[in-house]
Amino acid sequence: MSPASTTELSPKKLKREVARRRTFAIISHPDAGKTTLTEKLLLYGGALHLAGSVKSRRAAKHAVSDWMEMEQQRGISITSSVLQFEYKKHFINLLDTPGHADFSEDTYRTLAAADSAVMLVDVAKGVEPQTIKLFKVCSMRKMPVFTFVNKMDRYGRQPLEIIEEIETVLGIGVVPINWPIGMGKDFKGVYDRMTKEVILFDSEGTHGEAIVDAKTIQIEDPKLATILGDKGYAKLLEEIELLEIAGEPFDLEKVRNGEQSPMFFGSAMTNFGLAPFLKYFVEMAPSPEDVKNPPVSPTRPDFSGFIFKIQANMNPSHRDRIAFMRITSGRYTRDMQAHLLRENRTMKLGYPQQFMASERELVEEAYAGDILGLYDPGYFKIGDSLSTGDPVEAREIPRFSPEHFAVVELKDPLRRKQLDKGLNQLSEEGAIQVFRQPHVGNQTIVGAVGILQFEVLKHRLEHEYNVKVLLRTLGFKHARWIGGEFDEAKFERQDYTMVLKDREDLPILLLRNDWALNFVRNNEPGIKLLTNPPGT
Ligand code: GDP
Repeated sequence: MSPASTTELSPKKLKREVARRRTFAIISHPDAGKTTLTEKLLLYGGALHLAGSVKSRRAAKHAVSDWMEMEQQRGISITSSVLQFEYKKHFINLLDTPGHADFSEDTYRTLAAADSAVMLVDVAKGVEPQTIKLFKVCSMRKMPVFTFVNKMDRYGRQPLEIIEEIETVLGIGVVPINWPIGMGKDFKGVYDRMTKEVILFDSEGTHGEAIVDAKTIQIEDPKLATILGDKGYAKLLEEIELLEIAGEPFDLEKVRNGEQSPMFFGSAMTNFGLAPFLKYFVEMAPSPEDVKNPPVSPTRPDFSGFIFKIQANMNPSHRDRIAFMRITSGRYTRDMQAHLLRENRTMKLGYPQQFMASERELVEEAYAGDILGLYDPGYFKIGDSLSTGDPVEAREIPRFSPEHFAVVELKDPLRRKQLDKGLNQLSEEGAIQVFRQPHVGNQTIVGAVGILQFEVLKHRLEHEYNVKVLLRTLGFKHARWIGGEFDEAKFERQDYTMVLKDREDLPILLLRNDWALNFVRNNEPGIKLLTNPPGT
């Protein structure tokens, strides 16, 4: 046993540690400002000392989440990371999710490890397609969602319009906790509806590199009329009154059930509104103990956790593979032994890491709610459950059937072994799925949920495994695993279907389009078309 694991853990300490954890993800459409907000949260948490100027922001952006060269070229986030920081005695785990629409599969998995989400909305653009998709995943799990309306330093839509849009498009009640005063260059501050105070930001000086100064003034204070001008002050009073009369009252229970979203306004770029947001976010967001219907009590002294993400070669100079684990109960101590449910064996959870901005740190102990990156020599699979004491079921991780397919053609046939290794690795990461075509010389076919995953595949095969491939896309739109009696030869003869085998040798049917899917459904009543492999 390591020294840390021999230190006594009192139930009181465990409860205290769990109670201060907040584990959340930011969901947004690309460009809404997620990278900027992430950096600023780190700044406010004291984990990043300088953020803000375009140059340092760019540098920091790469340091924080862009591990892959390709990502830097394209300026999109295609890897997710986990960042940890403290804010006013709270211990915050921020799950960074890839922003591009094509990488939603990975994002969905990451959401399974979060207890709440911050939905970032661009004030000029409102609710965008990727936000809708991600919100749906959160609402399936009844996850609490907080709304942060960003880029208030620019002119955008009226706040009431945004509320209405969220309520209609996403079907969730929205309660502004603070209310913006002005917009664009006139964005002066926010009104805190809980304390009935006005928080005025000091716009002089730092351009977002440092925490902003703010003054607090009571709403009745006559000085406000001077500061905001008579017209501005009257407008604010009018809006506040309207909210009180027409708005939904705040209800923490509803928030915790994912039925009401507390709303905040600010600018991640100038830092305006960040402190007023964080103040309430850490209070209202659930600790692991506040999460509804957990599979295990987080304060159970026995440790448990599940693997929600695997990522290889995050750092090309280390060639490592990291399994991300969300702790669901008890305490983790460095190098502890735990039981891997799938294989019914006990193993050491070694080389645990947490991620603070650009640095990885070795961890001595961690508690329910925390995310650890475990060194993984190939032991783990996504969805694995680890525990001491009674085993615990992993949280359900959404799975998706691929919608794009391509034949893999190897440019140099002598690199077959490396290709297999790379494909194997990347499919274990859940980045792609690998099939073979038994009727055409066991050709290798890859399947992906998003088309851009193919480009990532090509890039990673070339850079991480030194294998160049051509991917010849196939014109099939759906893939279904088969349940029931199945005449392979018959489907192999058709133009609108193709029969493949997955890695477990289970048959899977590719269907050219919606028509083909319906046709098979209607004409082959003996066959069950399954979106996931049978038995999962
Ligand atoms: P992501 O794609 O969601 O990660 O977005 P980024 O954080 O990379 O931001 C996209 C663009 O919006 C960048 O040019 C940022 O500088 C800009 N941006 C982010 N937050 C704000 C903000 O609060 N105000 C303004 N004006 N621009 C912002």
